[in-house]
This record gives sequence, structure tokens and C-alpha cells, in this order.
Amino acid sequence: MTSEHHVLNPATEEVVATVPAATAADVDAAVTRAAAAQRGWAAAAPADRARLLRRFAAVVDEHVEELARLEVREAGHTLGNARWEAGNVRDLLDYAAGGVERLNGRQIPVPGGLDVTLLEPLGVIGVIAPWNFPMPIAAWGTAPALAAGNAVVLKPAETTPLTALRLAELALEAGLPEHLFQVLPGAGPVAGDALVEHPGVAKIVFTGSTRVGKGIMAKCADRVKRVTLELGGKSPNIVFADADIEAAAAATPMSFLDNAGQDCCARTRVLVQRGVYDRFLELLTPAVEEIVVGDPSDERTQMGPLISRAQLDRVRSYVPDDAAGIRGKAPEGPGFWFPPTVLTGLAPDAPAAVEEVFGPVAVVLPFDDEADAVRLANATEYGLSGSIWTRDVGRALRVSGAVRAGNLSVNSHSSVRYWTPFGGYKQSGLGRELGPDALTAFTETKNVFISTEA
Ligand code: NAD
Repeated sequence: MTSEHHVLNPATEEVVATVPAATAADVDAAVTRAAAAQRGWAAAAPADRARLLRRFAAVVDEHVEELARLEVREAGHTLGNARWEAGNVRDLLDYAAGGVERLNGRQIPVPGGLDVTLLEPLGVIGVIAPWNFPMPIAAWGTAPALAAGNAVVLKPAETTPLTALRLAELALEAGLPEHLFQVLPGAGPVAGDALVEHPGVAKIVFTGSTRVGKGIMAKCADRVKRVTLELGGKSPNIVFADADIEAAAAATPMSFLDNAGQDCCARTRVLVQRGVYDRFLELLTPAVEEIVVGDPSDERTQMGPLISRAQLDRVRSYVPDDAAGIRGKAPEGPGFWFPPTVLTGLAPDAPAAVEEVFGPVAVVLPFDDEADAVRLANATEYGLSGSIWTRDVGRALRVSGAVRAGNLSVNSHSSVRYWTPFGGYKQSGLGRELGPDALTAFTETKNVFISTEA
């Protein structure tokens, strides 16, 4: 190990911890150890693998509060959110454990023999995680990969390595084989790149920016390495005039302010039908102004800080001081604070309306009719999530069919449930995580034909 990273509390700018930064040689050694552990793991009885993963889930359950408080300190998440995130890790481990004994191939009728498909583990999986949901996203890749018989080497984001490091300790405490799940903090272009380039890594699961994801996909192409990409978003929140406007306006603030807007599914383009545009803004204004922004460890807080000064500068660059719209409250420094912000009167192609700001900033744009709403919703390179507010079931189905995005919700802003598939259209990603097929994404299908004619 040659260098180290300081982990800052984004609410106070105090150093929480200092962790070593892995080199390419460290990654190489970790992959070699992981490959050895994986062979034993893949050979174990499925019932034994399932039992160990359930035990891992149980140990996480005993540490939910500790993990949540660690996430609050290193990522600035509100305590309520962080508890949900730790619970999500536990639930996903349990869910993946349930899949171990149900991961079956098929027998396909063919002439002249018996044909069976085998689902084989891939080997060593490299998971590269972002800072915005460090704990759940670490688990989204890891839990199904382990369940399907693989080993995992995980590189957390530079700013948020602590919860992942703790999860690796808890895995050992639960009795998972040594080196089966290793966490190597380090710089993206060093440790992350070493995982991507390593010939012993069979698949990369990357969650992060579209820019870095494209570079990783190009490098994976050199070896035809398997890759899952969960990338950026600029999701629409479409409010039709026939919707329950009060409910839509009440739900809108947290649809883009949750996690201070550092959420790939944030509904940052609020599209409102002209007939209810003024009424909607009238309802939205107090709802945004009243959001409680501050100390994330205070149970009453609804929104915490941004992750870093760099992120704060980035978000500021999208919002001129004299911008029209709604401004909420935020504390002064120390800490990386930005107030809840709604921008109005922007052109639909203004940078804040088309680029992923990744902060507590939404734009509101009017639309005329259903076709106009769909056109605006699709006028982005992204396609991760979106919401449709209407009382008309036919319209809900038509618009759900027409919007090019992987995770839509009607009269709701919910995007993530561990038992349903999650992922992006267009430049929001490639492949799906979570849901009933999560384990299969970590297998290779082998077809074996046994002749009965010899
Ligand atoms: P990022 O792309 O900067 O970093 C993500 C991870 O990649 C980090 O661990 C980083 O160290 C690593 N990395 C950076 N350069 C690398 C390289 N050259 N080779 C290998 N690894 C490298 O993203 P971020 O700022 O940490 O996360 C925010 C982004 O993630 C946003 O765009 C957000 O929308 C996206 N995101 C998407 C989803 C989803 O499921 N679609 C979920 C969460 C976040």
C-alpha cells in the first residue's frame, strides 16, 4: 500500500478515518486469493452456501444501527435513510440466499439425446461502487454474485469506503470463507482500473457516472469481459392535469431531495400540464421551503449535506444566484450544504434541464398534452426512472409504454425494491440488478447434449 485516503464527514468536514489506498499489485493479490476461495465456494453444497449467506444477513441485522451511523458519518445520509440502507443489505442477502437452491438449469427436448443447460458461476467478480449509496450498492452486486457461487473483490468510492469495509468484517464473522468477499479501497483510475484490466476478473459490476462507465465498457470489450453498468439519470416526474395534484405536489420535494439529490433516480425534471401548472407551483413552494436541512444524525432532518466540496461546486455551477424558482433553507458551513432548489422558466434544453446535476436541484417545465409530455420525458440521453401522476389508467399504461426508462412508477416515486429488476435504458446503463433474475446475471449458461444413439 503506497498512499491513503482521508474520509471526511460531509456535515462537519472533520476527518472520520484514514484508509490505505490499494495499488494494482494489491488488486492482483486479492484477485488471486479470491480465485482460490471461489473454487471451494462453488464446490460447496448449495444448502451450505445458502445457510452462510443467511447467517451473513443475520449478522448484518444485528449491526443495522452501527452500519447506519457509519453511513451517516461518512456519506452524510439522514439517519432514517441510512437505517433503510442497512436493512436493504440484510434483506438482499436473505433474498439472494433464497435463490441459491433455486438456481436451476433446464432440460430441453431435442431429438437423438438428452439436452441440459448448466448455470455455472463466472468466477471472480469486480464490483466498483459509487459514493452516493455506498452500502446498498455494494450489496446489490455482492449478494447475488456470492449466491451464484462467485467470489467478489469490491472497490468502494474514495470518499465512502467505511461501510463496505465493515461489511467484509461482518462476512467473516458470519463464517463466510476467507477471501471470498474482499474490499479494497483505492482510487478509481488505480485500483478500479486494475480490477477492470485484470484477466482473472470475469465480470465488472460498475455503478457510477456515465463518463467513467463508458470507459470501463470499452476496456471490458478488449477481453469481452462481462459487464453490468448502472449509470446516471435525469428522470422525469410527469404530472397530468387529471392527477391528484395535492398528492403529486406533496410527494415531489423528496422525489428529488432525498439524499440531497445525489440519487441516480432523482426526479429532477418535473413536467406539469399547463392547466395545473400555477396551482402545482403554489402547492410545491411551501413544501420545498419547509424541508428540514441540517445535521443528518438528527432524527427530524429530511436532507443532509452534499458529499464533498467538489460536488458542492458542481451543483452551484448549475444555479445562478438570480435564478427564478423556489429556494429552501440550508445551514452555513462547515459542511457541504446547498438549499433545496426548484428552477422555473428555463428552456427545456438548458444545462440544468438536461444534465445530471446530482444535487438538490429540479427544474419545472410545462407541457401541453400527452404526446408533448412523452416527447419531453424522452428528450434526454438517460433512461433510468420516472413517475407518472394521473387518475386515468389508460393514460398511465400508454405513457408507461412510451417512456424509454427502466423503472417507472405511477402515482408514486418508488424505484428500488430488492425483489424487482432495476436498471437503465439508453445511457443510464446496461443489464439489470436485483429481482428474480439477479443471480442468473452472475452465471454462464452451458449447454450439454448427451447422445442416446451411440
Ligand atoms: P464515478 O463514476 O466518479 O465513480 C464511481 C466509482 O468508479 C468509484 O468507485 C470510482 O473510484 C470508480 N472509478 C473512477 N474512475 C475509474 C476508472 N477509470 N476505472 C475504474 N473505476 C473508476 O461516480 P460517482 O461520482 O461515485 O457516483 C455518482 C454517479 O453514479 C452518478 O452519475 C449517478 O447517477 C450514478 N449512480 C447510478 C446508479 C444506478 O443504479 N444507475 C446508482 C447510484 C449512482
